[in-house]
Amino acid sequence: MLHRLSKYQKALTWRPTRTFSMAWYCSGSTNTELIENLVQAGLIKHPRVKDAMIGVDRAHYAPSRPYSDSPQPIGHGATISAPHMHGHACEYLIDYLQPGSRVLDIGSGSGYLTHVLANLVTGPPGTAAPGQVIGIDHIPELVDLARSNMDKSEQGRQLQAAGRVKFITADGRLGWKEGGPYDAIHVGAAAEKLHPVLIEQLRAPGRMFIPVESEDDGSMLRSMGLSSGQYIWVVDKKADGSVHKEKVFQVSYVPLTDAPP
Ligand code: SAH
Repeated sequence: MLHRLSKYQKALTWRPTRTFSMAWYCSGSTNTELIENLVQAGLIKHPRVKDAMIGVDRAHYAPSRPYSDSPQPIGHGATISAPHMHGHACEYLIDYLQPGSRVLDIGSGSGYLTHVLANLVTGPPGTAAPGQVIGIDHIPELVDLARSNMDKSEQGRQLQAAGRVKFITADGRLGWKEGGPYDAIHVGAAAEKLHPVLIEQLRAPGRMFIPVESEDDGSMLRSMGLSSGQYIWVVDKKADGSVHKEKVFQVSYVPLTDAPP
């Protein structure tokens, strides 16, 4: 069963202008305050998500305004998503983020969410569950940035040294078959369609969280570089291999594209 839409998600879906006021409302002056505010607003519900996000200092990933609940530029036309979007992604995927789970994070950008996901699948400190998160980005400089951002904390260095987190330069639209199948796939940039190859790389059972451009008459708008709307889709592959898709709320992500020349 998917979560019911929170009041905030409804606001995002039907009254996008509220995004900004809610976003600022959740900002904090420290990492812990930011996450606590997201919990207070009902945007983070699961205690494991809260702990995993408190365990990663956003200052290592979004240095200019780390504790603002808004997206921030990280160079190369990419942004680190807003903390509430990272929270939503973890909330939707949480049942598939158990100690020992395998996860693919496509469009890993700053590496922030890759680190949070790794906290969830490697278990509490000291337990060293054999989970693994693979972060993919098609811009080599951002792959280097993600690695060096994670190196800013001792725990991030250890996760990488132990092979619990790997960053790879590749076209994420093809997934990363070598590391699959995955219990969870997170896509951090808007896809033109639900790429079947990504669904193939999901374990049964497994779940994918993916923003997808809307299928309506947006082709002309897209050819002008505009978007007619994007929605998060939650794609479940059940234990029997059957696939169920649900469109859950409207969002605004940078697109999944060809690598720049
Ligand atoms: N989750 C990241 C989001 C970064 S923005 C964060 O919060 O930091 C989206 C990222 O998708 C960018 O880093 C961009 O380089 C990457 N991207 C876009 N198209 C891609 C593709 N085809 N393959 C892999 N990565 C892609």
